[in-house]
Amino acid sequence: MLIVHGTAHRLHDPSSAMARAGHPPNFDLPDRVDVVLDALHASGAHQLRPAGDVGLAPIARVHRSDYLNFLQTAWERWPNDRNVELVLPQFWPVLGSPAGGMPARCPDSVVAQLGWFAGDAIAPLMAGTWSAAYESAQVALSAQRAMADGARSALALCRPPGHHAGTERLAGYCYLNNAAIAAQAFIDSGMRRVAVLDVDYHHGNGTQEIFYERDDVLVCSVHADPAEDYPYFVGHADETGAGPGEGFNLNCPLPAGSDWPAWRAAMEMCCRRIDAFAPQALVVSLGVDTHRDDPSGTFKLDSSHYVLMGRRLAELGLPTLFVLEGGYALEVLGVNVANALAGFEEGAA
Ligand SMILES: [Zn+2]
Repeated sequence: MLIVHGTAHRLHDPSSAMARAGHPPNFDLPDRVDVVLDALHASGAHQLRPAGDVGLAPIARVHRSDYLNFLQTAWERWPNDRNVELVLPQFWPVLGSPAGGMPARCPDSVVAQLGWFAGDAIAPLMAGTWSAAYESAQVALSAQRAMADGARSALALCRPPGHHAGTERLAGYCYLNNAAIAAQAFIDSGMRRVAVLDVDYHHGNGTQEIFYERDDVLVCSVHADPAEDYPYFVGHADETGAGPGEGFNLNCPLPAGSDWPAWRAAMEMCCRRIDAFAPQALVVSLGVDTHRDDPSGTFKLDSSHYVLMGRRLAELGLPTLFVLEGGYALEVLGVNVANALAGFEEGAA
């Protein structure tokens, strides 16, 4: 399989600074990319390619320009001295909350703008965050281009991940929604219907928001019940889309501690919905934080289950772009991703 990857992601490395500042652990380490590349090298069956750069225009098809301007300039505009390693939001407009509802507008202060554009306080900004996020989107776009040119499948080895990033929202380690940007690029290449299947442990609230009112991009997700796990506020089964998008969003939340049979049954519901939708391409938000050893999740999947997942996805018979999302157990992350691809290639053969 074609594997697209980058190097600028290393410029975004918030883990140790977060720990020094006493924040909860940030599991999105640069080593995540290395362990996946090592496992794919070991399997020997893949072609590696560095990401190209097709510019900002396809990113701006998904994210608002004021948000992109903010992400690009925030670090330079930040008022603190340059000894600060990272910044986190401190002020929020509480739009849409039970305490909110008053008129609010985006302020000029960059300190307040971070709260305006942040969904939570676990997506820190650093000097290299924009470069890393931009490259991560280009990794997805390069893989998408290769498929538009005829590749049957590809893995975009994206870091930072993307599925929590909304139209104008950074959250949950995510800044630009790589999977959504790739799905939109498929539509812009002339496809009429594209499906996104999110198998990450956490609900892809950003992807859901981006496509919620659209009937040309079906979004399906298997994830931990937001009543008890991140992203908490969105991802329930009764969120089915709105307006023309009604019926084109399928959420399959599962209780904490769910095992493979429960997970497989939920994925089966998604696969049947995707079959009925008859898309021209599938984007898989490939999070493997569903593994039993993952520090960010509670599900009980074993490494062998990712082979079965890949095989089932191949049965859909679609051009398939895998986009890396979560997966934070470094000792099994590589093998889990490699197993998903191996199962897919077996099933597609
Ligand atoms: Zn996740």
